[in-house]
Amino acid sequence: MKRGCTQCGECLRVCPVYAMFRREEYAPKGKRILMEPLDPEFGNGQPVPDELVWERVRKLSRLCAGCGRCARVCARKLSTAELLADARSRNPHWTQFMWQMWIRAMGRLWPMAGRMAMLIPRGLSKSGDFAGLVNMARALVARPAPSPWLRLAPSKRVSPQRVMIFSGCTAQYARPAWSAKAARLLHCWGYEVVAGDAFVCCGGTLHHAGAYKAEAGVREHNLRVWKEAGKPLVATFCASCLHSLRSYGGHMEEEDAVLWQERVFPLSRLLADPVVTRTADAPGQVGYHEPCHWDGQDWDMPLLAHGLALGKGKGLCCGMGGILKMSDAGLSAAMARACLASMPSDAEEILTGCSGCVLQLAGEAGDKRTVRHWLDVCDIAD
Ligand code: SF4
Ligand code: SF4
Repeated sequence: MKRGCTQCGECLRVCPVYAMFRREEYAPKGKRILMEPLDPEFGNGQPVPDELVWERVRKLSRLCAGCGRCARVCARKLSTAELLADARSRNPHWTQFMWQMWIRAMGRLWPMAGRMAMLIPRGLSKSGDFAGLVNMARALVARPAPSPWLRLAPSKRVSPQRVMIFSGCTAQYARPAWSAKAARLLHCWGYEVVAGDAFVCCGGTLHHAGAYKAEAGVREHNLRVWKEAGKPLVATFCASCLHSLRSYGGHMEEEDAVLWQERVFPLSRLLADPVVTRTADAPGQVGYHEPCHWDGQDWDMPLLAHGLALGKGKGLCCGMGGILKMSDAGLSAAMARACLASMPSDAEEILTGCSGCVLQLAGEAGDKRTVRHWLDVCDIAD
């Protein structure tokens, strides 16, 4: 892991956690100053100061949304999210075990958890950690999709290619309609859609939790599924899954890594040269949340902008990423509310292209706004 912060302070400008507190110890720079001496690889054998022990920095180290913004602006390309994931990996905590259980073993129970959360009166869950968890759980229950706002068709069909859909945990367990819609769209474009049901979690959130062994397990499983299917194209409609899938290349033999990087796509990019027809049901103004994990190249917004007047939020992180939901659900929810507040005030409908962002923002949107994945409002042309 690369070390050596120059303390330039550039990362303070972009860190969403620092933006909530405006105190340096919450910023990537502050966390590095606190944590780098604790790292045996970095500490040059110097004794660790008595007051600087893992127990004391544990809370700060867990306050990270894994958005990756600090690494993108850092001249040394230091990723504080990676530093923190490493630290968690070396210092396991019972909450990591709970998180792994929630992600890997309890997916089938998510809809039931959502229905139970619906029974909790809103007055009992207004703010704080409990509210943050309950509100996100409520969002696990899908609202009925509206009549389509956009109808999509290819201007010309692609030459037949095989594509597997990587749905990710949220779609697999709580929003199966997204995968079905993605398959219909790809089919309409001329792709041969191969079942991707055998894929499991992309591993992104396991990585942030420092659960490296579990992450390696799901990565190896997913790559085995891909190889056994004959290494087809892989399409995902979740920006965070895409980010995580692209990281697989660093763990593969060179030849396969190149092929993998060339064949993993965001769904919207595969829907090339679309003919987009706006329907009478489309709202006048739509808010748009750009997920952090697009890493600067958002393929969804240009597709939607063909037919919708999109008002982008101020680019704040929704607070869902990393393990923030587990380590400080109240802060995570407060970040979601700040993100929603940055949307155009007349946008009652908000779209995004990351499964986690949908759940997080929908949970905090209240009754006056709805937050959906763009697949909920698009359909194929008749
Ligand atoms: S990954 Fe995002 S939330 Fe975490 S330290 Fe970097 S900028 Fe802050
Ligand atoms: S941008 Fe990089 S070098 Fe500068 S303070 Fe942040 S982590 Fe350190």
